[in-house]
Amino acid sequence: MTEQEQRIQVVALAKSMFDRGYATGGAGNLSVKIDDNRLLTTPTGASFGRLEPDNLSVVSMSGEHLAGNRPSKEVAFHLELYRNRPDCNAVVHLHSTYLTALSCLKGLDSENVMRAFTPYYVMRVGQLPLIPYYNPGDKQIAVSVGELAKNNSAFLLANHGPIVSGKDLLDAVDNAEELEETAKLFFILSGQNIAYISDENIDILKRKKP
Ligand SMILES: [Zn+2]
Repeated sequence: MTEQEQRIQVVALAKSMFDRGYATGGAGNLSVKIDDNRLLTTPTGASFGRLEPDNLSVVSMSGEHLAGNRPSKEVAFHLELYRNRPDCNAVVHLHSTYLTALSCLKGLDSENVMRAFTPYYVMRVGQLPLIPYYNPGDKQIAVSVGELAKNNSAFLLANHGPIVSGKDLLDAVDNAEELEETAKLFFILSGQNIAYISDENIDILKRKKP
């Protein structure tokens, strides 16, 4: 895919998420690797519904702003994911309704905030660790993501929202959507007697690709 095709894909997928309510206002950001040294990302405060291919930010893997509009401060945790996960080529960060609601609950299991009740969640995301609350822009968010990135491909920022990676941008968006739908089911099932997926089946599913 050429860089221009990647720019068009970023705009189209962000608009699709915006139109279906996964992103609102200027919240959220996404990025995709152009090559080993550069990534394409959404500008600071930009609405997913109104991105333009020529205004996207280009950032080096060391965090330098190279071209386009100014990137979000949150690009720092995207960079930590790329540095620590060689299989990661795209990152989606949302403040989507159900995952953000989940991130505001007390007493979550910090290693995996949602115990698996569907196989798709396990195949796409595996588990969802919780990153403790820090104010937006705090450098500790990126540090915490970096520490967990070797063993996890998705994260939930407490009182904030999800970070989801993928092998390409389509994969990262699909993973983010699956995760948001799983959180929606979590709330629909709240207080009910849930049949969870067994540990044995989870081990088998984690070795499978969707
Ligand atoms: Zn955010």
